[in-house]
Amino acid sequence: MTQPTQAEIFAALSAQSSSSSRFKPSTKEYTSFENPKDEIVSSSNSLNNRKIYCSREKCSSLILLKGVAKLIEIEGSILPDDSSSPFIKSSSPHLYWSIPSGPFSFENIGFSRPDTSIINDSLPNFIPKDVNEKSKIKWLICAECDLGPIGWSFEGGKGAWLDVKRLRYEDVKSD
Ligand SMILES: [Zn+2]
Repeated sequence: MTQPTQAEIFAALSAQSSSSSRFKPSTKEYTSFENPKDEIVSSSNSLNNRKIYCSREKCSSLILLKGVAKLIEIEGSILPDDSSSPFIKSSSPHLYWSIPSGPFSFENIGFSRPDTSIINDSLPNFIPKDVNEKSKIKWLICAECDLGPIGWSFEGGKGAWLDVKRLRYEDVKSD
């Protein structure tokens, strides 16, 4: 078997990079919905009725398909609010997508290392039963561009939560 020529290697590399510059879906921010609860939540099953993407428009990595996450309200903020972050400042009650079946429900998602700076006592008392009280938080980040935190999960736990405002949504509902 002959070695590939340099030209063939370059051709293969550029083919790879063009396939990774994938189709960018038409998406919009949470705040551009007039009545988000009506527009992004299915009235029949209370689950997300649009695909959910990374909030960085240029990235728009697909995070969740439709019908996977349930909208919940939590008093008090959980995600760190850093003034230098690109995210909209959140106000109470905070809306989150709850994904009870966890990581395998995601199309793409990244995790931080367990965060040892957060003590569970400071979290609202919704910690799921499968999570040990000493479980550490793992922040969720975009798997493609590392934007985050966009949500959290617990070390050893199944559930995951995403901040509704730190995401983009399919512009037009697809079937
Ligand atoms: Zn991203």
